Amino acid sequence: MSDLAPYAASEAQSRGRRIAEPTPKYRGEYQRDRDRIIHSTAFRRLIYKTQVFVNHEGDLYRTRLTHSLEVSQVGRSVATALALNEPLTEAICLAHDLGHTPFGHAGQDELNDCMREFGGFEHNLQSLRVVDELEAKYADFPGLNLMFETREGILKHCSKANARQLGDVGRRFLDREQPGLEAQIANIADAIAYNNHDVDDGLRAGLLTLEQLQAQPLFAAGYDDVQRLHPGLDDRRLIYETIRRMIGRVVTDLIENTRANIETLEPGSIDDVRKAGKTLVAFSDEIYEQHVSLKRFLQQHLYSHEKKLEMTRRAQSIVRELFDLYSADVSLLPEEFAGRAKDKDEAGRARVVADYVAGMTDRYAIAEHERLLC
Ligand code: MG
Repeated sequence: MSDLAPYAASEAQSRGRRIAEPTPKYRGEYQRDRDRIIHSTAFRRLIYKTQVFVNHEGDLYRTRLTHSLEVSQVGRSVATALALNEPLTEAICLAHDLGHTPFGHAGQDELNDCMREFGGFEHNLQSLRVVDELEAKYADFPGLNLMFETREGILKHCSKANARQLGDVGRRFLDREQPGLEAQIANIADAIAYNNHDVDDGLRAGLLTLEQLQAQPLFAAGYDDVQRLHPGLDDRRLIYETIRRMIGRVVTDLIENTRANIETLEPGSIDDVRKAGKTLVAFSDEIYEQHVSLKRFLQQHLYSHEKKLEMTRRAQSIVRELFDLYSADVSLLPEEFAGRAKDKDEAGRARVVADYVAGMTDRYAIAEHERLLC
């Protein structure tokens, strides 16, 4: 790791773990974080959690697990190109959705609504809760006891009220500071991954068409190149060749524009990055516009597609009904959760129920819902 840039996150400058542990012998501290995330229960559950399409809708769609792996692939490429901390970037990317509810954003929004009077529910904050408190594997501490920089990266956004309760890791939202560059990369890698894989999944599902997508500059640029170089290519390969060009274009732009931002600001350390007043990991204006345009297009034509909305309504009622059932009778919860809820006030009980429902996979939520209501 000796070739890290001076403004990269490093073990030497780290704010460390909440509970001190002996240094690992054959791997770095951030590699240990990544390994703990991979071995966590929440990580394994991501395979049965919806990204856009519910797991049982088809075997080829992204799940939250494969999404997280694609985020990590993009993030690592960018981190390596900029001489930043690759294991840390990987750890943040793999962990970024650990707190996601079943049924994607429909589940998250409904659970947030259920928790409205009790502080709300935000999947980002929940990811931090998973690694700080909910994973119960280690004898010496709750959660995974990750490094500060990994936790900082997982907490992408946060309200001031929540930030005040979070201590060290919430501080930057009150001080208006930025996170380290590895966290900034993970944030954009998430958007790059879903923008691209949702085009692929949307086309595969027949909810988007090539004609519609050709009005998107990012898609059209790649599509025209492929048509020119490989006339008559079948649709499947044409789509893949187009998407790989789209990813290549935005990733290259991100690396080069970020490099230019770094050259302008000349940060000497991660603390200079934190105090920079703006994020340094950013697209050029032109690509940013195209990226946002594609994002809006997906919002309008894929995430709000009538077929998707059917699933959304069904998911919302499952989450709502499970939440209400467990809240009315916490003895329906598994022993460990029922025990945690026992001596709590209403808000405390609601949080335990939210933790339990948020941890469910899609299919488990469906099965539990059937078992309890039928
Ligand atoms: Mg994500």
